[in-house]
Amino acid sequence: MADRLSPSLLQNLQARVDPELEVLIDQNSARFQELAQGWTNIGRQIPGAIVLPETEQQIQETVRWAVQSSVPFVTKSGGHSEWSSINERGIVINLKKFSGIEIDAPGKKAILRGSILSKDVAVALAAAGSFTALGNGNTVGAIPYFLGGGASVTTSITGFGSDQILAARMIDAKGDLVQVTDEKEPDLLYAIRGAGQFFGLVTELTIKITPLSELGNDQGVIWVGAFVFPLERAREVAEAMKPLMDDSKHATSGLIMIMAPSPARNKTLVISARYTGNPDHAKIAYKPLYDLKPLMANGGPVPVQNTSDAREVLCAKGDFKRFGVVGLRRFNVDSFLETVKVWQTLVEACPDAINTAFNFQWDSRPPKTPQFESAMSLHDIRYWQNNLIWHTNVSRRQLVDEFNDKSIKIMRGSDKSEYADFQNGTRSGPIELRYRGPGKLDKLKALKKKWDPTGVFTTQLLD
Ligand SMILES: Cc1cc2nc3c(=O)[nH]c(=O)nc-3n(C[C@H](O)[C@H](O)[C@H](O)COP(=O)(O)OP(=O)(O)OC[C@H]3O[C@@H](n4cnc5c(N)ncnc54)[C@H](O)[C@@H]3O)c2cc1C
Repeated sequence: MADRLSPSLLQNLQARVDPELEVLIDQNSARFQELAQGWTNIGRQIPGAIVLPETEQQIQETVRWAVQSSVPFVTKSGGHSEWSSINERGIVINLKKFSGIEIDAPGKKAILRGSILSKDVAVALAAAGSFTALGNGNTVGAIPYFLGGGASVTTSITGFGSDQILAARMIDAKGDLVQVTDEKEPDLLYAIRGAGQFFGLVTELTIKITPLSELGNDQGVIWVGAFVFPLERAREVAEAMKPLMDDSKHATSGLIMIMAPSPARNKTLVISARYTGNPDHAKIAYKPLYDLKPLMANGGPVPVQNTSDAREVLCAKGDFKRFGVVGLRRFNVDSFLETVKVWQTLVEACPDAINTAFNFQWDSRPPKTPQFESAMSLHDIRYWQNNLIWHTNVSRRQLVDEFNDKSIKIMRGSDKSEYADFQNGTRSGPIELRYRGPGKLDKLKALKKKWDPTGVFTTQLLD
């Protein structure tokens, strides 16, 4: 068993930072229990304390105290990962009370602070006539999302989330505040654009923003729709999707989802579809699906800041959840049909995993590539296997993962040179699959040794 943090050590933290600093140590209190929750219970641990700083200075002092007292810590923003959790020996620095956004629309940039959530960024930017690369989770912390790569529905227009990073204010492993800019720390800027969660605690991120007009319409909208088919029709739907997903004439993107939606729980294929440009053209782009006469088809223009609202249910806290995400080079119909069988076996063997969906994600257009080099190495990927693992019975933890691994293995095929992992999705497996390309991993490892040689911010890139 780990030794719990001593209360006197924590009193010393308050005395040093601010007597008013909120430090929660009573594991039985409602506030502690609420804040100890996260999106997933996989790997969830109970910390020795939860600390809630309100200012950048308080955050910095807390990090300094932790480093000098050899108290391990993790930072938490939106709590949607498996990694903002720590045991009784350590503390969680929860940024809930430090959050904000400042927008400079004419200058095409915005400053994000602390724990600001993705939806709050999207709403504030839209009100200022802008958008940026944001993902599918409204309550995902925006800063960690950008630091870890950031796959978005607008990747073909904007590039990945990490490509939007212009500068940062970061507290390093010594507790010093570093201005990460191209002029002052170009190598560190390179590293935080895709591997940022391993280098420090980012209090502020300056990002590039894009005028709404670049969405290709006057209304700042993206067309969002769904096509529903019985699972037995998987082959004909997959065969229709293959050319559609490869046709870059139309800016389509979305997910082919093998799932059993609530409440009916019928085994279903749902095409969760998006179209960027003139929303009236979505009907033309998705004609092959309408022609198949789905059980249900809907769709219409949605303001860009609301495009993930329909997926809000995925953001619920609790249960055992995980994304199984890997980059792919192609869509193989036969492989896809094999994964349908794997999913069916999974939900029969593990009825508690009925919320699990095996998803193939596509973008008909490639990611926009930035003018600079960075840690992010996935600009050659426009296809993903993006499985949502979701079950409730802890005894099936390993079994459910095995089904996920099996489906990913099938979709990847046997050519290992094509394998690519997504750093926002995993921290296990060979790290060279997350940071690909000549010299990239060596450069990141050298930078990690310079900035965080003892692994204050994880031991990733040190092993
Ligand atoms: C429903 C859902 C949808 C998602 N959709 C997408 C998507 O479309 N595209 C995509 O790319 N990803 C997506 N993700 C993954 C998500 O972007 C990452 O898991 C992200 O890191 C979560 O951030 P968080 O603040 O919510 O989580 P947290 O668990 O709070 O933080 C994640 C990691 O970042 C660290 N961290 C937190 N704050 C800071 C900080 N200020 N400075 C440095 N490190 C920090 C934490 O210690 C932890 O290691 C999705 C996840 C979920 C659950």
